[in-house]
Amino acid sequence: MTATAHALIGGAIAASVPNPAIGIPLIAISHPIADMIPHWDFGLGWRSKSKILLFLEAAGDLILGVILTFILFGNSTNYLYLALAIFISESWDLLQVPYWLFGWKFFPFSAFYNFGHEINRRAKMPWGILTQAASVTGLVLVLRILH
Ligand SMILES: [Zn+2]
Repeated sequence: MTATAHALIGGAIAASVPNPAIGIPLIAISHPIADMIPHWDFGLGWRSKSKILLFLEAAGDLILGVILTFILFGNSTNYLYLALAIFISESWDLLQVPYWLFGWKFFPFSAFYNFGHEINRRAKMPWGILTQAASVTGLVLVLRILH
């Protein structure tokens, strides 16, 4: 999914699970689960994009995710916990960055790349964005109800 969707999912979990010892593992496993839902992201067709464009898109996506997550969950969550939640929720994809940006096709980057490639389910626009909006909104609502 987009970095924005992963950040919001991590933030929603952190906001609802006050104990980081439980919240952080949940956030870590939320990433591959979210990526199994058919979605669109900037990584689609990455081989044919220039590296600078890919980097700028990924960085913009990540910055947007951080800002939105702090706007939505910053009031109710410890800032350090929220920052860690975002970092952990993105870590699976951050560990792939050296693979596609620098061509570091060796462990552990190759393992994260291959795993991500295996589990990612793709969907074209506009469905690929709608599935993410629906997943994030659904999760936030469910966590609000449970909380
Ligand atoms: Zn991913």
